[in-house]
Amino acid sequence: AKSARGLAESAEGTLRGDKGLKEEGDVDQNRFLMRAISLAREELCLILCAFFCLAVSSASGLLLPRFQGSILDHAINNDKPKFKSEIQLLIIFTVITGLFEATRNLCFTVVGKRVLKTLQDHLFMGVIRQDIAYFDGTTSGELTSRLTNDVSSMAEPINWMLSSIVRNAVALVGAFILCFSISWKLSMLAFTTMAPIMHITAVYSRWSRELNRKRYALLAEANSAASEALGNVRTVRAFSTEEVEIGRFKSKTQAAMQKGVRDAFAYAGAVAVNDWLDLGASVLILWYGGSLVMQGRLSAGKLITFQLYWNQIQSAYQSIMSVLMSLTRAAGAAQRVLSLVDALPDIDPNAGTMVSTLEGDIKLQNVHFHYQMRPQHPVLTGVSLHFGQGQVCALVGRSGGGKSTIVHLLMRFYDPTEGKILLDGWDMKHLNLKSVHEHMGLVAQDTQMFACSIAENITYGLRKHTVEDMEEAARYANAHDFIMRFPEGYATRVGERGVRLSGGQRQRIAIARMLLRRPKILLLDEATSSLDTESEALVQEALDRLISEGGRTVVLVAHRLSTVQNADMIAVMEKGSVVEQGQHEELVELNGVYQRLVRRQLSKGKSTVDSG
Ligand code: ADP
Repeated sequence: AKSARGLAESAEGTLRGDKGLKEEGDVDQNRFLMRAISLAREELCLILCAFFCLAVSSASGLLLPRFQGSILDHAINNDKPKFKSEIQLLIIFTVITGLFEATRNLCFTVVGKRVLKTLQDHLFMGVIRQDIAYFDGTTSGELTSRLTNDVSSMAEPINWMLSSIVRNAVALVGAFILCFSISWKLSMLAFTTMAPIMHITAVYSRWSRELNRKRYALLAEANSAASEALGNVRTVRAFSTEEVEIGRFKSKTQAAMQKGVRDAFAYAGAVAVNDWLDLGASVLILWYGGSLVMQGRLSAGKLITFQLYWNQIQSAYQSIMSVLMSLTRAAGAAQRVLSLVDALPDIDPNAGTMVSTLEGDIKLQNVHFHYQMRPQHPVLTGVSLHFGQGQVCALVGRSGGGKSTIVHLLMRFYDPTEGKILLDGWDMKHLNLKSVHEHMGLVAQDTQMFACSIAENITYGLRKHTVEDMEEAARYANAHDFIMRFPEGYATRVGERGVRLSGGQRQRIAIARMLLRRPKILLLDEATSSLDTESEALVQEALDRLISEGGRTVVLVAHRLSTVQNADMIAVMEKGSVVEQGQHEELVELNGVYQRLVRRQLSKGKSTVDSG
């Protein structure tokens, strides 16, 4: 029964382990595992204490079968005083074993929890500092899975791996020697069953690992199908495609389940054979050992002691197997987690020269750019532009021309692949990005909110502010009235990603943020197409206030004719380059792309120079 449990553990280890079994080499995995274990360095005191308890409990645990056997012999021989004293010793050693075992367990568990926390923190720090390009290529589902699954797959076994391997190795070797000291013939006989048990465990593990590798791949597909459907739940509802999504999900879970069932059958078979061999060993021990007892060559107590040691060997072996399985799993997880912890972003926000003030003069010099995800697709091809200090500059042109990309480059979400961006004459790459961002503000097309209160969203990232300032900014951004209409006012929680607010409301909150921050450089990626007319007018008014505050360089991706008309400089973008540049009147007179854009929009009766 013990070996069956051991096999179950090792099988479970295999099951769970397969997530970790990626293509990467074992050597590399072990290197990462050692790094993971080295994270436990800070817990050295606790670990030493745990190992001390381990030594005591292992030693006293190994003595228990001795007492049990000799107690039986004293009972048979009717030796009352010895019987009594051995019973007392047995009780004392049982208490000692239990006590130290519990303390060992406690120490290792605490170490495990603390290492888990350290890892989680390291990983989150590693992830959030990655380049924006990194997030373009990774789903948030994948990242959260690393933060939760991989980290616990990695940290969880560290605790019991350390203790279990040592404890079981001691038990195995100790019990082995003690078995031979009782009777070498009996030992040899019992050990003949070990070879087939080892073989079956190994064969089953290999097979199951392969099967589960496939099963986990299917489960991962099910997960990504689910997260895609749930992430786009409004689209799914709008198209009434719930059944399609359910079908897609079910087909993956069904296939995974079938693999799981196959594994269950094989597992049952392996356990059955293992149990027979295990019980067979006991039969052999009793048969041969019993005959030794009958011949008077072995006492009954010694036979019992032998049997108890034999059980220890069995369970220690199975435990070690299961630890080795989960080691593979931990190593795989460790590799994925630590490669991320160690990965240094190309754009380090903390490096470079600090800036305390900015004038707000921006120059793009022959900027080329493509997104990492699509290297074959040039997005900017030699853009040179000058956004003068305190000027309002507009980027217009058809959709896909690269306007938002310029805004991204100015925020340094990405670096140009060629060319330079100069801020007050300094190459932006050499400036400390954190300090630059203090003087820069972005109102993006899709305003991102946190699932906290409106007040917290407006003041996000600000260290110092007063409630009056915040309310004034909101008033100025045409947001105060709608906020006050909520029963909880500024304390209203906006839900995940701000779902409880309309697009126009989110935009006005974003504008309020900027009014509060008063950045020297303001980047606006206007989005009005999704707003209703009333909302649009309110947003427009707020934007106009923000833009006309003065003393600030504004770069806006503009759609509205009114904003564009008043701009100090308009750049018309097409297919990644600037095709026309100047003020409204100059550009209209050119009778080119800009003029066509304006005419098209005016004829549609909209006051936008839109990107159709
Ligand atoms: P515009 O703002 O003028 O509409 P964008 O700068 O948004 O244009 O996009 C320019 C080109 O870059 C488009 O072809 C778009 O598909 C591509 N693009 C935008 N963002 C990404 C991204 N994160 N990864 C890959 N390609 C992108």
